[in-house]
Amino acid sequence: MRTTVLVLVLLPVCGQDRLGYDDTPHLPGGKWRVHDGRRPQPRVVTPGTKPGQAPSDAVVLFDGVDLSKWQKGNGSDAHWKVEDGYMEVLKGGAIDSRDHFGDCQLHIEWATPVEVKGKGQGRGNSGVYLMGRYEVQVLDSWNNKTYPDGQAAALYGQSPPLVNACRAPGEWQTYDIVFRSPRFAEGKLSSPARATVLHNGVIVQDAVKLIGATTHKRAAKYRPHSPKGPIRLQDHGNPVRYRNIWVRPLVAPQSDR
Ligand code: MG
Repeated sequence: MRTTVLVLVLLPVCGQDRLGYDDTPHLPGGKWRVHDGRRPQPRVVTPGTKPGQAPSDAVVLFDGVDLSKWQKGNGSDAHWKVEDGYMEVLKGGAIDSRDHFGDCQLHIEWATPVEVKGKGQGRGNSGVYLMGRYEVQVLDSWNNKTYPDGQAAALYGQSPPLVNACRAPGEWQTYDIVFRSPRFAEGKLSSPARATVLHNGVIVQDAVKLIGATTHKRAAKYRPHSPKGPIRLQDHGNPVRYRNIWVRPLVAPQSDR
C-alpha cells in the first residue's frame, strides 16, 4: 500500500524534473541526442552592467589604473604613460600582456590622437597582436586612405575590413575580437588561425582564416609556435591610447559539450 502511494506521488515529479528527451535522434557526429537533458549545463557568467564592461569570468588586463599586467618584450616593466584611465603609447617599443592566451575573446578600446598628424600609415598607427604575432591594425582611418589591408581593423597585410567603421580622431573606439589560434602537428600547420572582429559593434572580419604571422611587404606564412602567446600592443611612433582591456580564454570549438 505504502509503495503504491510513493510511486503515484513520485511519477509526476520525475516527469516534471526531466530536462529533455532520451528518445530523440542523435546529433550527427556526437554522443548527444536532440534536446538531450543530460548534456552539461553551460556555466553561469555574469555580464557587465554596461556595454563593453568585463563579464565575471574575464581576465582584466587594464582597468585604467596601472600597467602591472604588462611588460616590455625583454621582460622589464611596461613604460607607457597611464593617465585619466587610459594608457598611451610611448616610444621605446611594444608592450606585451604578462599572461599568455590561445583561443580567446578580446575586448579593447582605443583612440587615435585628436591632433591629426601625418597621413596613410603614419597617422595614429598602432596595433593589437594576438599571440604576439597576428595583428589587427589600429590606425586613424577617418578620412585617411591607405592600402586597404593596412587600414583600421584590417588583419594587417592580409584582409581588409568588410567596411570602414572608424570614428573620428580622439573618439573612443572598440574592438571585440574572437580569435582561434592556429594548430600545429608534427612541425606543420594543421589548422590556420581564424579571427572575427567587430569594430564599434560592426562586423569587419567574419571568421577570416589567416595565412600566417603578420609581416610587412611579404606574404605571411606560419612557423610553428607554442599554443599560447601574449596580447601585444604596437608602438608605431604615434601616441595612440588604450583603455578597458579584457580577455576571456575560450574552450576549443570542437570540444564535446
Ligand atoms: Mg600597426
